[in-house]
Amino acid sequence: MEVTFLGTGSAFSPHAYNASILVDRAILLDAGAPLTVHLPKAGVSLDEPRAVVLSHFHADHTFGLAWLILGRVLLHEPSAPLTIFGPVGATAYVEQLLDFAWGEKMRRLSWERLQLTVHELAGGDTFEVDGSRARAFRMQHVDELNCLGFSIERDGVRLGYSGDAEVSPELEALVAASDHVIAEMTYPEGDGAELHLGRKDVEGLMERHPSTRFIITHLSSEVSVNGAVMARDFLTLRLPLR
Ligand SMILES: [Zn+2]
Repeated sequence: MEVTFLGTGSAFSPHAYNASILVDRAILLDAGAPLTVHLPKAGVSLDEPRAVVLSHFHADHTFGLAWLILGRVLLHEPSAPLTIFGPVGATAYVEQLLDFAWGEKMRRLSWERLQLTVHELAGGDTFEVDGSRARAFRMQHVDELNCLGFSIERDGVRLGYSGDAEVSPELEALVAASDHVIAEMTYPEGDGAELHLGRKDVEGLMERHPSTRFIITHLSSEVSVNGAVMARDFLTLRLPLR
């Protein structure tokens, strides 16, 4: 499995772009980065990703979708179909995002040309993404939104992704179900207490799950955590890590 980080900053990070992770050139985990620039810069055509998996509806995880979708339609004729997975409410969210970004006419054109399919998921749901088995986990992040983390099994690797999350029993279950996990760490010091994970939270998870390899993203500054891989924009990793 090959994982390329297209954005590894927290929402207002000054050092890195917003969240997006490309798996095997085919699956995007979140779409906060400027994808019309970052996919080509990573050597991947806008037309290559088959699916986008959204963790929650915050701008720093989703707004790049507007560029990916219409850019793909306008630059690639015919365009490859695209499937979107996201929390309950994803269909209406993507429609509103496209209406707001480019207008209703372009939204309709995009939907038709990309044969756009949106699958709405709740915690505990299993699904298949680009031929891989995956599972959604409900994450505790902000009360007013459905927030998910995911595990994807591919090439014998069980990859977890926290999205944005506080420590919770579901996050522990996600980490336990993953041999590699991409975990957020918004707060460089201390524990997150609310909304996000902090360094102490991540160190605690690492201690409680010694057989899971941690890759840290959603960073507010350039920091390191002993024993974990620190993601940075355009880092490519081949999993399993040695
Ligand atoms: Zn968020």
